Amino acid sequence: MQTVLSIKNISKKYGSIQALNNVSFDVPKGSVFGILGPNGSGKTTLLGIVLNVLEASSGSYELLGKEPDADSRKHIGTLLETPNFYHYLSAEKNLQIVAEIKGKGFDDIDNVLQKVNLLERKTSKFSTYSLGMKQRLAIASALLGNPDVLILDEPTNGLDPVGIAEIRGLIQTLSAEGKTIIMASHLLDEVEKVCNYVAILKKGVLLTAGKVDEVLVNEDIVEVSCNDLNKLANVLSNYNPKQKDNLLQLYFATGVAKLDEINKHCFENGIVLTHLYLRKKSLEAKFLEITNN
Ligand code: ATP
Repeated sequence: MQTVLSIKNISKKYGSIQALNNVSFDVPKGSVFGILGPNGSGKTTLLGIVLNVLEASSGSYELLGKEPDADSRKHIGTLLETPNFYHYLSAEKNLQIVAEIKGKGFDDIDNVLQKVNLLERKTSKFSTYSLGMKQRLAIASALLGNPDVLILDEPTNGLDPVGIAEIRGLIQTLSAEGKTIIMASHLLDEVEKVCNYVAILKKGVLLTAGKVDEVLVNEDIVEVSCNDLNKLANVLSNYNPKQKDNLLQLYFATGVAKLDEINKHCFENGIVLTHLYLRKKSLEAKFLEITNN
């Protein structure tokens, strides 16, 4: 798998504050990669280093398989914080200004406005936009020049539920078009809904990184019940069941549990199940497990 960004042993100190401590991970091409961690865990610092606005104290990184240079940076669109658009100018005019600063033509402007669903409002003044529209305009601005990689710092911060859903939908659409998206978030729920890869940071230390469904969910629990729990426990003793209230719980690695086999085994041993349910270990529980270690 091709790697878009490779972080190699990056550390960053602000005076005595160790904001990042020897962080390494790879971002695969085409992924939606979440950098997840509470406030102050070093997410913005890491993005700042990758975007060349901050210098690492030690370590390095590669963009698109090589030492970063002006050319590789052209492939990256960024949204670091809500940019300061001119309030009294239209969305279109604001993007023209950004395009000029970036040295890009105006041909792309309608296209990116269409992508973020603002084309019909392109002549409205920025000051008349809702917060969600402002954030979408910022993403449109990041999309100028059709970059392969987008880096977004907390893209849904401060938005209402509708605005959040719009941005998340947009990220998924851009991902389906083949863009790699790297986003910082302090919300587990957001990473679960939007990302397929995650790196979890805590106080500047990388706790884990990998596919979301491997990092955050590694356990399936099958719940079973019937009228005679003792007999059921006996019949399922090979599965090492644990009793919880009026249920037995069987633990499996993700994707391994076969409910039909369990059901058949019980029935062949004279038990009719009243309850058979596959429960994924909650992400929250797994996340707490990772971050508390
Ligand atoms: P948030 O979600 O709040 O933005 P974050 O995960 O992005 O948090 P950073 O902003 O990277 O975290 O901060 C990491 C640590 O570095 C924090 O302890 C922060 O106080 C410290 N820090 C960040 N910028 C500076 C700075 N310019 N000078 C001194 N310390 C800083």
